[in-house]
Amino acid sequence: MTDVADRAGAGFDREFGGSPAGRWAAPGRVNLIGEHTDYNDGFVLPFALPLRTVAAAAPQDGARWTVWSELSGETIEFGADEVAEPARVTGWGAYVAGVVWALREAGHDVPGARLAIASDVPLGAGLSSSAALEAAVMTALVDLGGLDLPAERQPRLAQRAENHYVGAPTGIMDQSAAIRCRDGHALFLDCRSEEVEHIPFDLHGAGLAMLVVDSRAPHRHADGEYAARRRSCEAAAARLGVRALRDVGVDQLDTALARLDDPETRRRARHVVTEDQRVLDTVALLRAGRVREIGPLLTASHVSMRDDFEITVPEIDTAVEAALEAGALGARMTGGGFGGCVLALVEVDAAETVASAVAAAYAEKGFQAPAHVTVLPAPGATRLD
Ligand code: ADP
Ligand code: MG
Repeated sequence: MTDVADRAGAGFDREFGGSPAGRWAAPGRVNLIGEHTDYNDGFVLPFALPLRTVAAAAPQDGARWTVWSELSGETIEFGADEVAEPARVTGWGAYVAGVVWALREAGHDVPGARLAIASDVPLGAGLSSSAALEAAVMTALVDLGGLDLPAERQPRLAQRAENHYVGAPTGIMDQSAAIRCRDGHALFLDCRSEEVEHIPFDLHGAGLAMLVVDSRAPHRHADGEYAARRRSCEAAAARLGVRALRDVGVDQLDTALARLDDPETRRRARHVVTEDQRVLDTVALLRAGRVREIGPLLTASHVSMRDDFEITVPEIDTAVEAALEAGALGARMTGGGFGGCVLALVEVDAAETVASAVAAAYAEKGFQAPAHVTVLPAPGATRLD
């Protein structure tokens, strides 16, 4: 397949005629470590993937937006009425209309535009194609309109688009990653203060790579389970008299756990408290350039998700075990759970061997064959030309 930026540009020419005023790219992401810590006011550490969504765009007169996506092959159009209130545009166009709505609601004079979208980010695989789309569109509109909206304020608005216009209750991680990540770095995000820090994550320099395996596991009751985990965490925080589980340090863990009567709530709390610490430990190692040494933290995170938070599924556990047996330095499920992707930290030369071992383990168990891609940390949203 041709390059995603070329496809967006060619799509623009075919659908609208002529050349775009520019092309803007925004990446999918994976979370290196820190799962289910976001709604507990804790820490996450995503990095951007080399898989990107590209918007080729040009201004048009009036408050009108015309959008083509390679994905559906259709062109949608909306105007001021449809962005006056949430949810008036539905389907995939809601992500685009939502960005226009959120920008206007924040007082920005959003230029009318034609946009052609192409993407390499797989949909619904847990790599956040939704935030990549929002970020590509937002950066395009901000640049086209010369809007006074620095990058640090964009994730909040993209999140508002998704929460209120599309109606999907996501945290701020995905949009922060798509917009603010840097090449060769992970993004350390404090979900309470929303402060970010760029942490060097030089896999390449360490002779390593990250294998991302799409488990292809069917999502099983994920929404209900997700809500149940959230309730357990809130119950634990209330019982412990803290605002959120983030306020319990690992040094206080034993005392805190002793105060929780229900064994299940205890396991849930233990995952969150130890996971926050694993994020901090990972950040400390990466700051010291000790990239290789994060492997055991990734694996410990997986064990905690499997045994304490109970959000893994057989396909996911099989992929992690097979990757570790084949020599991965560490492996874990990434994302909310019950499916999605597995990360395996591998020697760069071993990536294909590890991927084959995972595929063989899948075949043996009769699971649908997994997909994989080997990545290095990539940049966040950028203007291409
Ligand atoms: P994820 O973000 O994990 O990939 P979501 O369900 O949050 O999954 O978002 C996927 C949705 O985002 C798709 O169903 C589609 O509506 C929209 N989307 C993402 N990328 C594109 C694209 N390139 N073109 C059109 N719609 C897209
Ligand atoms: Mg999404």
